[in-house]
Amino acid sequence: MNYKIGSIKGDGIGPEIVGEAQKVIKKIGIKYGHDFEFTEMLLGGASIDAYGIPLTEDTIKTAKEMDAVLMGSIGGDAATSPWYKLEPAKRPEAGLLGIRKALGLFANLRPAVLYPQLAGACPLKDELTKGGFDLLIMRELTGGLYFGERHTDIADGVRTAVDTLTYNENEIRRIAIKAFDIARKRRKIVTSVDKANVLDSSRLWRSVVEEVAKDYPDIELRHMLVDNCAMQLVRDPKQFDVILTENMFGDILSDEASMVTGSIGMLASASLNDTSFGLYEPSHGSAPDIAGQNKANPLATILSASMLLRFSLNLQKEADDIDAAVFKVLEDGLRTGDIYTEGTKLVTTSQMGDAVAAAI
Ligand code: NAD
Repeated sequence: MNYKIGSIKGDGIGPEIVGEAQKVIKKIGIKYGHDFEFTEMLLGGASIDAYGIPLTEDTIKTAKEMDAVLMGSIGGDAATSPWYKLEPAKRPEAGLLGIRKALGLFANLRPAVLYPQLAGACPLKDELTKGGFDLLIMRELTGGLYFGERHTDIADGVRTAVDTLTYNENEIRRIAIKAFDIARKRRKIVTSVDKANVLDSSRLWRSVVEEVAKDYPDIELRHMLVDNCAMQLVRDPKQFDVILTENMFGDILSDEASMVTGSIGMLASASLNDTSFGLYEPSHGSAPDIAGQNKANPLATILSASMLLRFSLNLQKEADDIDAAVFKVLEDGLRTGDIYTEGTKLVTTSQMGDAVAAAI
C-alpha cells in the first residue's frame, strides 16, 4: 500500500527525533512492503524563520492532503529566542493551535505507559505498579470550559468572573465513539470520567456515553467521578484502559497520568478529527537545552509513529511491531540520558533510533 505522511520536524530537538521515527517507519515499509511517502512541512519557529508566520496556508493545505501528520515539537527558549519578541499571535505555539483548529482535531489521546524496565522512574510504590501499566486518556479538545463564554464584571465594587462549561450531545457523541473504537483495539474497557453528581454538563455527558455504549456490547463501560479518578490514578493506575473525559478534566488528568510514569521522553500523543486523519507528536516540548546534541530521547516520537500507523493507517501488526521493538531495546538496557540509570547502556538519539529499527 501507498501512504502519504506529512512530516513537521519542528524546532529544537524536533528534527533529530522525527528523523529517528522516519527511520523506524521506513523499516516497517521494507518489512511489510508498504510505500510510506513523507512530505516535509513547516510549522512554528521554522515557519517563522522561513515565512515570518508560524503557520501558512500552504502547510494547512498540504496537511489536508495527507493520511496523517507526524510532528516533532515546536517552540524555543522563551528567554533567548527572537520568536518570543513577536506578538503572541505570531509566536510558534500559535501555529500549533492554528493547525489543530484548521484540521478540526477534537480528540486528544495521551497514553501513559509505565514500562517495567523503567519502573524506577515512577514515583509510586512498587507494589502499586508491579509489571507496569498502560492507560490512555482521551480528552475532548475543542469544547467545554476553555471555549465557553466568559466575562468579568464589577457591581457595587465587587468583581465577579464567569466561565461557561457547555457541551452539546453531538460533541459528546463523536468523542465517545472515538473512545469506544479505540478501546476495541486495546483491552476493551472505557472509564468515562465526569462530575455528574454536581454538573448538568456531566449528566448529559454520562447519558450520551451510555447511549453510545449500546452500540459496543463488547466494551465494558465504567463511570467515575473526576475527584475519584485523580485519586485512583495514583492509587491503582493498572485498573484503567481508556479514560474518556471532557476538556478541562482531561487537561489535568493527562498531566497527572504522565507524571506517574516519570519519563517525559517516553510519552506519545495524538490529536484526531472525525475522519481517520490525525496529528501525532510527542507530549514533551522542543527541549532547546539539548537541541542538536544527539542526546534527545526519540522514543516518544517513535511511539507516536506507532499510534499513527495504528489509528490513522489501521496497520495494527505494524504498530505492534514498533511497540515490541521499543520494549526490546529497553529490555536490552539501552537508554538515552533522560532515562539512564547505573548499569544500563547510555546511547545517543540516533543509536536509539537505529536499535529500534534493527529490532523490527
Ligand atoms: P520541554 O518538554 O521541551 O523540556 C523540559 C525538560 O525535559 C528539559 O530539560 C528537556 O531537556 C527535557 N526533555 C524534553 N523532551 C526530552 C527528550 N525527548 N529527551 C530528553 N530530554 C527531554 O519543556 P520546556 O522546556 O518547558 O519547553 C521548551 C519549548 O517547547 C517551549 O518553547 C515550549 O513552548 C515548547 N513546547 C512545545 C510543545 C509542543 O510542541 N506540543 C509541548 C510542550 C512545550
